[in-house]
Amino acid sequence: MKAVLLTEHGPAEVLRVAADHPVPEPGPGEVRVRVRAASLNYLDIWVRNGWPGIKLTYPHIPGADAAGTVDAVGAGVTEWRAGDRVVVNPTISCGHCAFCRAGQDNRCVHFALLGEHTSGTHAEYITVPARNLLGLPEHVSFEEAAAASLVFVTAWHSLITRGNLRPGETVLIVGAGGGVNTACLQIARLTGCTVIVVGSSDEKLAAARALGADVVVRRDVEGGWSRAVYQITAKRGADVVVDNVGAATFADSLRAAARGGRILTVGNTSGAQLEIDNRYIFGKHLSILGSTMGPHADYVTVMQLLFKGRLRAVIGAQYPLDEIHAAHRALEAGEHFGKIVLAL
Ligand code: ZN
Repeated sequence: MKAVLLTEHGPAEVLRVAADHPVPEPGPGEVRVRVRAASLNYLDIWVRNGWPGIKLTYPHIPGADAAGTVDAVGAGVTEWRAGDRVVVNPTISCGHCAFCRAGQDNRCVHFALLGEHTSGTHAEYITVPARNLLGLPEHVSFEEAAAASLVFVTAWHSLITRGNLRPGETVLIVGAGGGVNTACLQIARLTGCTVIVVGSSDEKLAAARALGADVVVRRDVEGGWSRAVYQITAKRGADVVVDNVGAATFADSLRAAARGGRILTVGNTSGAQLEIDNRYIFGKHLSILGSTMGPHADYVTVMQLLFKGRLRAVIGAQYPLDEIHAAHRALEAGEHFGKIVLAL
């Protein structure tokens, strides 16, 4: 089968598209999926570049998101049949630990993510636990489902489950074009919140406006964007700040938060070492709430909203699997508004 293979860390060029990689066999409780669409997440860049302590089994197949059709089922799988249209929840959990049994499977002590800890989705065939699949209605394309999967569950869990978002609150989203941020924007609007988006270009801010942002602010606005947010909110600040940029923005996010505000983070595309002025934390009664992915219940909830048309997958560009290098470079350049999708 065709598959993207990583055999060493480095720039996009280290990725290789193999034509003859062995098709995986589904084990007990597993399903083999013929992938029709996958998407890229910033995680794929992190994994490709590597970090101290990362453990991959080479050749490694990257990729967390996929949608396609069931190709074969392993022993004991009765709920899926060949040909079923499915989308894959990328979080792998043990199903047995105390967290899993409490429905917090994204806190599983054996937590794994497709494409990071296990073989990923940038291949024609993948095997995943049967419980990771969700039936995909005919009217939702494989591309939309693959584009939504990881970022939707991540955004929903962060804003709704962890952030306890309430109607009428003001949400500040730092960064316009990323997949999690476009999901957060829509979820915040759906909840009845006022949404402010900070972005790097007029094009991205116009796209954020079209997606429902109430107010947009240029990142390079004179006087600084946190000051601009403070003025826009009549010196109150934002009730909730979504900051998945990290090192480059966190200090300003603390400044832009209202008294009693919550700062939500699920990642840090600009770096992990944050500058924190503790006076903001205690002086303004701030909470910093982190999370990664979401439990399966949140996955089902948010994907149903996609299926019902209440949320939509924002696709910035689409590439064939053979053009994986261009796809990685496009994600790194950050020029697109929305997700980068691979068609298989
Ligand atoms: Zn577990």
